Formats: sequence, C-alpha cells, structure tokens
Amino acid sequence: MKVLKFGGTSVGTIESLRNVKRIVESLDSPAVVVVSALGGLTDRLIATAKESAEGKDTRIDAMECCAKRHHDIIHELVSHDKQGEVLEKVDAMLTELGNLYLGVSLINELPERTLDRIVSYGERMSSVIVAAIVSGACHKDSLEFVKTERWMGRNIADRKATEKLIQRNFPLPLEQHCVIGGFISRDNNDGTITNLGRGGSDYTAALVAAALDAEMLEIWTDVDGFMTSDPRIIKDAKVIPDMSFVESMELCSFGAKVIYPPTIYPVFHKNIPIKILNTHRPEVPGTLITDNATRLPDEVRGVSYVRDTATVTIHGKVVKDIEEVNTRTYNAMARNGISVMLATGDEDAMEFTISVKAADARKALETVRNEFAPEIGAGDVLSVYLTEHLAIIAVVKEGIRRMQGLGARLTSTLNRNGITVNGLSEGTSDSTLALVVNDDKAEQALKLVHDSVIPA
Ligand code: ADP
Ligand code: ASP
Ligand code: MG
Repeated sequence: MKVLKFGGTSVGTIESLRNVKRIVESLDSPAVVVVSALGGLTDRLIATAKESAEGKDTRIDAMECCAKRHHDIIHELVSHDKQGEVLEKVDAMLTELGNLYLGVSLINELPERTLDRIVSYGERMSSVIVAAIVSGACHKDSLEFVKTERWMGRNIADRKATEKLIQRNFPLPLEQHCVIGGFISRDNNDGTITNLGRGGSDYTAALVAAALDAEMLEIWTDVDGFMTSDPRIIKDAKVIPDMSFVESMELCSFGAKVIYPPTIYPVFHKNIPIKILNTHRPEVPGTLITDNATRLPDEVRGVSYVRDTATVTIHGKVVKDIEEVNTRTYNAMARNGISVMLATGDEDAMEFTISVKAADARKALETVRNEFAPEIGAGDVLSVYLTEHLAIIAVVKEGIRRMQGLGARLTSTLNRNGITVNGLSEGTSDSTLALVVNDDKAEQALKLVHDSVIPA
C-alpha cells in the first residue's frame, strides 16, 4: 500500500488535477491520497484574515475568488451525478469561512485559533473535491485522526494518539482509495482546529505512511525530483536520482523546501522509501530516498541554504571545556523550545557559537546569558553576543568528513569573491559542512558553492 501526497501546485488547476486523477487511477492497488489546499490558497486565506482584522475590505472579493476557483473545478471535473452533493459540502464550508471573516472584521482581532480555523478550509475543501474526482475514492476527515498537543506555545503532532487513530480509521487492506486533507489537525485536549505548520501536508502523509507501514511514500510536486539545490536560485540544479534519509533530512532542515523537514523522521524510522515525483511529468523517474543510497566517494549530494539566521557566541575561559559548554547550551535551548541549527567551537580562541533562526535570536541570547550567569559573574565568560543578518550554506553528503580540505577550499572560493565566511562547521554530523555568511550574500554564496561542488 502506498501513500501519495499532492502539493498545492498539483491541485492548483483543472489541468494539474486531471494529472492527479490519472496518476491515482492508474495505481494497481488502493492508496491513501493526501492533498494540500489549491495552490496559493493558504497564503490568500491568511492574507484575507489579517486584512479583515485590520478593517480592510477585501474579504468579499477574496471569498468570490475562492468560491469561483472551487466551483470551476467541481463543474469541470466532478461527474454530474456527484456535483450537487460536492457543491453543497463546499458551499457550506464557504459560508462558515465567510462568517469567520465577518467575525474577525467586527472584532478587529485575529486570535491564533481563529486563524487556524480559517486556514483549515483550504485542505477541507480540496480533499472533498479530489475524493469526488478520483473514480471509486472515498473521503476521510483528517481532523478525526491527526492530533496535536501544545509544546512551548506551539502545536506539535501528538504522534502516539495520531498513530492509533490512523490505524483505527484505515483498516488494512484498504478497499478503495482514500483521499484526506494534509496539514490540518485537532488539539487532542480541547478539540480546537490546529495544523502541522506551513508545508505540513508532507508530514501528514508521512504520519499516515508510518502508521500503516506503507510500502512507499510518494511526494508529488512541481519539479522533477529533489534537486542539487533550490532550482529557483540555481538555474542549472540537477535532479538527484537517489539519496539517503539522512542526506534528505539535512538538506531539508537547511532549507530545501521540497519536503517539510519533520516529514522524514517517521518514515525513516520505519524504513519506508520516499519518492519525489513531478505531477506535471509523471513519466520522469524522480528521486528515491532510502537508507541504502548509492555511495558517492567524492561527490557532494546537494547544497541548501537558510536565510535569516543569527549566531550567539560565548567568549571566555569556560569554553576550554567545550563538551560541557555544548551540552549545557543545547539543553538550555531545548528547555526553551529553541532549535539549534549549528554549533561551532574553538577552544584556542575560547569561543563557542550557535546558529539559530532570526526569530529565536533574542530569546537564545537571553537563554545563554541565564545559563552561564554564574560563569559571567565569576569572569569565566567575558562576553555573550549576538550577530544578526546571517545565512547558512549547507553542503551535504554522507561521509563528508572524508572529503578533506573541502571547507578550506570553499572558504577560499568565497573569500576570493569578496564573501566573508563568519563560521565553518565541519564536524557536528558526518553529513553536513556548513558555512555561515552575511545574509545579503546568501544567493551569491549558494551559487559559488554549488558551482564548486556539483559537477557540470
Ligand atoms: P508543494 O506545493 O508540492 O508542496 P513546495 O512549493 O512546498 O511544493 O515545494 C516544491 C518547491 O520546492 C519547488 O517548486 C522548488 O522551487 C522548491 N525547492 C527548493 N529547494 C529544492 C530542492 N533542493 N529540490 C527541489 N525543489 C526545491
Ligand atoms: N496548504 C498548506 C500550506 O500552504 C500546507 C501544505 O501545502 O503542505 O502551507
Ligand atoms: Mg510543500
């Protein structure tokens, strides 16, 4: 049994939905099909909600446009005998959505839970429509089985509860294709509508694949596969035919948008292969992600980048025990819900530096200062400081440490082109070499690094 996930661009137009129908209907056996909202709709739902809260009068036009997109698809692709029923369901949701916008515009406020409710309509509508387009498919409501819990002021998947509920809702073997909405969920304690974060439909698909021990997770999108870098920036990026789970995890956590980062872990854990495929060109082989990818002796798998990052540096004698500083810093960050993207240390220079997202920078600085307050008092920490407006370029391949001299070579390439390398991390995982550069040089640095490590 396979799980197939179709992203917004795959369900954005009548033409691409025809491909989705063809792809699913040509499968040999029943599958679970996870769909995103129509392409661009989630952005639009959020924008209109914010505008309504600001008292701007855009909701009527936005609702008209949203209704038209869904109605056009229904009229064009849903068989006549089912159109009435589907229109009724979608129109009921559109009415609820319109009422929510009205409420937001009246109170001039947009509480988080109201926004979460508003964005959920994207996937709730698209999944009902796709289920009616694919012959012999049924629809199931993800809100019934994808559950979240609160953690550090955020909603995160409640993996245990979700796994049990998925197993209960999808008795195996499946008798027909089941279409569900990605991204959306409910809080397991109070039942409010939540979601798994932007791009989270991939994660829904992974949770379903893992819970049902699927033979494969297929992510259908708008590019020919996982590429050696972001094709929007690197015009000659190439499709990577195969890669390991670890490599894909590293590339995604350093910004490769093609898969939402938490997606890989649940399927990796169950050793379920992932394929990245193009809905617009289903004949292209795409990328296969497994735990036994081809070994690349001296070739990098891919390069990704994250913008808008910052570093927090601890300077002082305490760094002489780098292991201890590392452990204390990681633990303090974890307790405060801040994820550390990189850590680098230089015992001789007595400096230890972590990279975090810009949004976490102030909190990270404060956390480090609190953690090392005793050492600051005793003079063993001379300063703790923040450096902002940075980007990380991540060069990925399992066993990257064996490519000796790579860090020095890339640093000198960047320096020759007028780009300062503020930090270099070669050690933490044996799959990623990371370079920290100024954010305004991010794209230029990405191109230079990609050109240097990916053969033409
Ligand atoms: P979907 O709507 O299918 O979820 P996304 O927009 O979330 O699609 O992800 C696909 C996009 O990710 C591609 O169109 C591409 O521009 C971008 N992308 C960034 N990095 C990579 C990469 N390394 N390989 C492939 N695509 C990438
Ligand atoms: N529709 C949601 C988003 O745009 C989830 C997804 O597409 O994966 O973020
Ligand atoms: Mg996506």
